[in-house]
Amino acid sequence: MTTVEGIVLKERSVGEQDKFIDILTRENGVIEVSVKGAKKINGKSGSSTQLLAYSRFCVDRRGNYLYLNSAEPIHIFYGLRDSLTKISLASYFAEVMRFCIKPEAQNGDIMRLLLNCLHFLEKGERDERQLKALFEFRLMSEIGYMPDVVACRGCGVYEPEELFFCIGDGGFYCADCFENESGADYMKVKLPVLSAVRHIVLSDFDRLFNFRVSEETQQRLSALAESYLLTHLERSFGTLDFYKTIV
Ligand SMILES: [Zn+2]
Repeated sequence: MTTVEGIVLKERSVGEQDKFIDILTRENGVIEVSVKGAKKINGKSGSSTQLLAYSRFCVDRRGNYLYLNSAEPIHIFYGLRDSLTKISLASYFAEVMRFCIKPEAQNGDIMRLLLNCLHFLEKGERDERQLKALFEFRLMSEIGYMPDVVACRGCGVYEPEELFFCIGDGGFYCADCFENESGADYMKVKLPVLSAVRHIVLSDFDRLFNFRVSEETQQRLSALAESYLLTHLERSFGTLDFYKTIV
């Protein structure tokens, strides 16, 4: 029997009584665990296997499968369920994570990112759009798609007033150096957007959530972050499509 801590990223019913849950763990990537008699488990043990529950799981391995022996909650994000936009955004975070994280990977920082995002989302202490953009850019950086935000690729200027950010390769050109007739795959943004992206991808976890942007900057940052993630992951997410119908 093994004990793991993790966050439930997905649950799906099997037959009348059972379900499978996918759990994001620190040391073993995402693991799939069978929960026998899930419908009959109530109270503490039941809530600890719900979507987005952060729990301690005791599992048994039999052959290629993992079976839940028992579970106890560490933190259930009940506050997310008070708001349709919160639970929808959190579900998007979970769906993206489940797609990105490989089995057997070390995910300490990724798990911390998700727990922090869920915490701030539950408490309502940050703009939801800011959390979404932060999650998107930071996750992409953690899994190997960090944008190159150091300087203009043409002249090396560090703080151009206006710049063209390339979604596909993650670099940028200042307005003077930019030459691209179609403009495809580029997004024109101003310096505060670049500063926000730099903060999100480069800062330590302790400071990660401490930044503010204007309304105009937030709108551009949101568009850029979402486009960057969708372009690099090369797919769409049903939870994101739903979220966008309600905000
Ligand atoms: Zn330049």
